[in-house]
Amino acid sequence: MLLPVFTLKLRHKINPRMVAVGRYDGIHPCLAAATQAGKVFIHNPHKRTQPVSASRVWQSPLESDVSLLNINQAVSCLTAGVLNPELGYDTLLVGTQTNLLAYDVYNNSDLFYREVADGANAIVLGTLGDISSPLAIIGGNCALQGFDYKGNDLFWTVTGDNVQSLALCDFDGDGKKELLVGSEDFDIRVFKEDEIVAEMTEIEKITSLCPMYGSRFGYALSNGTVGVYDKTSRYWRIKSKNHAVSIHAFDLNSDGVCELITGWSNGKVDARSDRTGEVIFKDNFPSAVAAVVEGDYRMDGRTQLICCSVDGEIRGYLPGTAEMRGNLMDTSVEQDLIRELSQKKQNLLLELRNYEENAKADSSSPLSEADGHRGIIPANTKLHTALSVNLGSEVQAAHTELCISTSNDTIIRAVLIFAEGIFLGESHVVHPSIHNLSSSIRIPVSPPKDVPVDLHLKVFVGYRSSTQFHVFELTRQLPRFSTYALTSPDAASEPLSYVNFVIAERAQRVVMWLSQNFLLPEDINIQNAPFQVCFTSLRNGGQLYIKIRLNGEITINTDDIDLAGDVIQSMASYFAIEDLQVEANFPIYFEELRKVLVKVDEYHSVHQKLSADMADNSNLIRSLLVRAEDARLMRDMKTMKRRYMELYDVNKDLLNEYKIRCNNHTELLGNLKAVNQAIQRAGRLRVGKPKNQVITACRDAIRSNNINTLFRIMRVGTASS
Ligand code: CA
Ligand code: CA
Repeated sequence: MLLPVFTLKLRHKINPRMVAVGRYDGIHPCLAAATQAGKVFIHNPHKRTQPVSASRVWQSPLESDVSLLNINQAVSCLTAGVLNPELGYDTLLVGTQTNLLAYDVYNNSDLFYREVADGANAIVLGTLGDISSPLAIIGGNCALQGFDYKGNDLFWTVTGDNVQSLALCDFDGDGKKELLVGSEDFDIRVFKEDEIVAEMTEIEKITSLCPMYGSRFGYALSNGTVGVYDKTSRYWRIKSKNHAVSIHAFDLNSDGVCELITGWSNGKVDARSDRTGEVIFKDNFPSAVAAVVEGDYRMDGRTQLICCSVDGEIRGYLPGTAEMRGNLMDTSVEQDLIRELSQKKQNLLLELRNYEENAKADSSSPLSEADGHRGIIPANTKLHTALSVNLGSEVQAAHTELCISTSNDTIIRAVLIFAEGIFLGESHVVHPSIHNLSSSIRIPVSPPKDVPVDLHLKVFVGYRSSTQFHVFELTRQLPRFSTYALTSPDAASEPLSYVNFVIAERAQRVVMWLSQNFLLPEDINIQNAPFQVCFTSLRNGGQLYIKIRLNGEITINTDDIDLAGDVIQSMASYFAIEDLQVEANFPIYFEELRKVLVKVDEYHSVHQKLSADMADNSNLIRSLLVRAEDARLMRDMKTMKRRYMELYDVNKDLLNEYKIRCNNHTELLGNLKAVNQAIQRAGRLRVGKPKNQVITACRDAIRSNNINTLFRIMRVGTASS
């Protein structure tokens, strides 16, 4: 049994996911963690810290080996590592909703303190792509920003939604690191510097990401799922009713390969095989786990896995020794295994008995009612599946449906569907009542997003009187745009918004793309170019026109800018288009964006005015306090009382103004997010270089407050005419 090699109990609470081990003097590993009331504590077990009188750090009154760093604001992320290689020691980085602090703990001084308008929800430190200096990369409101040690932002781009998690990993194996970004829109995006090279859609918010080795990485979702990806494909995942707070890759059984270590909200820590997800070690804390990190905390040249609980308990584990042969848990594991295997044996014996009885009955063929009873179906029974759009009726709204039917008089007793993100709990059981059993069944499916989804089906087929059923297992893929019904064009409802571009593809290939990504009726007969098709969204009734002219020019009309982006990205990957410039016009959306930009301006100026007012009031408070104290010293109680009454009023005003300032800031953040989203959407309408150019040019236009240029870039893809 693997036991901790050290246990500490610190008298400070630890914020979940905000722990880092760093050598802030270049030698001694220290643990830094965000704690309550906007503070960061640094635990240095190696020597007594000198009492310091400087601005940010002071000695903890609770423990001699802990110093405290005042951030004066709720900390939202924290990390440590080499930011300036010339220093020879690690930098501590602390992010809040408005600022990023790079702190030199050793010299007790700021490397930089930057305002970050989009907030810092997540942080990662390291090298990205070809950018030579290490970057502290933060993810906030739809934005990613990377700073070097001088505080210059050498990296900036936008992403689909609020960032929740970041990791650096050599995803494509070229020796340089890509940035993995997990966000609230359930997507994991892979950035090769500022270019998105892969996108994986999950079914919940991605709360943590960690590099494992090579192109393999671990992930955790807000619904209690943890798992491992290799490039774009998922190796395994498990789901718990607890929340996975922190994940970390560490080789705990000394076999040369990292396990995925997960710290859970119920205090459990487990280590799972990177290949199978099998638990090879577990331990329990009395309170929720806050973070899992690693470091040579005893300074003996061996790295420990370090787990921290929210109550300040720290345990360090050394990897298993050779004698343990990878057996990190006590014998109960073997007992568990024996129990599990004997259960399997029971099930197999039961199955065998069924087969034997069926075989006995089979010898008395031809097929009789009795055979049906036992679930024997004709050997040539086939199962057909078809996906289609049902245009609905007076009593039923239009919907996408899956039709399953058998090829003879057998009936479908039940259907089990496993599909991610479509059904609550990922699975769905259809179980017709005994009076409605038939040889075919129609199941409505409504995917909430335009992503292809695999439907894994188990279909129970037999006869009405059967007690046992034959199970067909098969997989059907729901195409990406399966919730769009082909409808007849109606010029009056044609959307005004459009994108326009030219691709060098024959019309037939475009038709192939259409039939692979939409559910077209079987009798459709699309002629050569020019042609147009019109779809209606089953979700909101919005129209989508796709028109192809003789010269290969394609126009897509839709008022949904995200849908236009999805269609373009789908075509780009189908036709392997590397670069695509697109002309775009979304008058309604652009008008809304214009209003948002005006609001951003307003909130900025309100912010400045409020800050000035607060500074005035603070000065007033200081002088009132001095005058009140003067009155007290002169025993002029009447004046003192009046001063304190005034002080009370000014203080009340100050508190009110603070509330207003908070609300103003929240509004500002919401609007800045909308602006970042708009830039990201404008980018998604293009592919390759034109896409990156649009994102960079939009940002420059916003920085120089050039709104007309911004809209020009969004429309034609470039600032120059
Ligand atoms: Ca790479
Ligand atoms: Ca291992």
